[in-house]
Amino acid sequence: MELHALTIHELQEKMKSGAVSSAELTRSVFSQIDKVEDKVHSFIRLMREEAMEQAVRADEQIRQGDIRALTGIPIALKDIVCTRGIPTTCGSRILQNFVPPYNATVVEKLVQAGAVFVGKANMDEFAMGSSTETSFFGPTRNPWDLERIPGGSSGGSAAAVAADECIASIGSDTGGSIRQPAALCGVVGLKPTYGRVSRFGLVAFASSLDQIGPFTKDVEDCAIMMNVLAGYDPRESTSVRAEVPDYRQFLGRDIQGWKIGIPREYFIEGIDPEVSAAIARAIETVRQCGASIVEISLPHTKYCVAVYYIIAPAEASSNLARYDGVRYGFRAADARDLAEMYSKTRRQGFGPEVKRRIMIGTYALSAGYYDAYYGKASQVRALIRRDFDEAFAQCDAILTPTSPTPAFKLGEKTDDPLQMYLSDVFTISANLAGIPGISVPCGFSASGLPIGVQFLTGHFEEGKLLQIASAYEKSAAVEKRRPAL
Ligand code: GLN
Repeated sequence: MELHALTIHELQEKMKSGAVSSAELTRSVFSQIDKVEDKVHSFIRLMREEAMEQAVRADEQIRQGDIRALTGIPIALKDIVCTRGIPTTCGSRILQNFVPPYNATVVEKLVQAGAVFVGKANMDEFAMGSSTETSFFGPTRNPWDLERIPGGSSGGSAAAVAADECIASIGSDTGGSIRQPAALCGVVGLKPTYGRVSRFGLVAFASSLDQIGPFTKDVEDCAIMMNVLAGYDPRESTSVRAEVPDYRQFLGRDIQGWKIGIPREYFIEGIDPEVSAAIARAIETVRQCGASIVEISLPHTKYCVAVYYIIAPAEASSNLARYDGVRYGFRAADARDLAEMYSKTRRQGFGPEVKRRIMIGTYALSAGYYDAYYGKASQVRALIRRDFDEAFAQCDAILTPTSPTPAFKLGEKTDDPLQMYLSDVFTISANLAGIPGISVPCGFSASGLPIGVQFLTGHFEEGKLLQIASAYEKSAAVEKRRPAL
């Protein structure tokens, strides 16, 4: 098999034994990019020269016996994490020329771990979307069917892993933006607990929901990435000072006697029948692993989408107030005074979905409406969180579909924001509750589109999450296919 098609752990073996160098691997990744990137468009910016230099340095370190967690492994970064000296656009015109003077903590950690950076991956503008169609730089396409969307907002990061344009990647998840594209592209994607991974240097969307996490080709690679990403950061006030276990130790452990909760509210009308069938098979697989299946209830599920679409836009409207053309980013020309400069800059700099969110959010926070909207949504959010606390008193993990449908067609939902928002019905709750979630491939539709199953566990239980994900992955043995590009 070609080097770019292998996993992190397979490549580590080969590099350690000297059979393969990082320079060869990185060249292989870029040859795949040269072959498929015109069709898929996973990237806003490629970092070919930097990557080759990093690969040569990694090979030097390997020769000296300095082998770290990701030495020489080509990784893609969602273009929402700041990279020193390299433009970070967030998929927006307003940040088209923004060059951060510092690295995000996750980037710094990846550098320390020896990673090679392939490029900055495409995304929905400011991570607002479920299809990667709102990017100022044009859409990304699903490697499994180029007429279809890869999911979003981290669609570039997911597609790049699925198309073997990198070995693993980084995304961010505010309401499902790692798990949903992972499901739609047939890869593994994990959203950590709120506070588990530092967001220093992550461009803020909705600060009480945002988390950074990995996309990988299998669960073992996901554990390897989490070992690098997780941990307290004094520069990030919401990061939590909690011990980080070696996540690899959870791999291969059985789930005998575990109780797996199936929330009755997640099996609703509107789920694609092929998704339902695949999830039913996943439940059966988990049962065969020795777990017992218990029906649980998350009674406030029906409010999740509504609550999210008040809280996320409210926080976004305040986070995005800083893009006014004064200090950095795009500035409109020909303004007669300051007020006109602000309004022209923001009118020209933001796309329609971002403007819609700013307007909804500003309204929800405005005097006289705050209590009725943001205040009320925060109260319901507390109930949603309590639903999960009560559920985890009865089960070890929860199993749900990741997305109600496989990948939809480009343009299919762009004129109907509500339909687009409904792609996130199963993923939003984890962000509202702050718990970790993972999407693992669980099969294909008849037409060959990937389907994902989501597992959820309690706060800071990423270890258990990886344990069930790896037990499931091993037992399900979903057919290994690669997109025909
Ligand atoms: N699709 C959701 C939204 O549009 C979630 C996005 C995300 O997780 N960043 O807000």
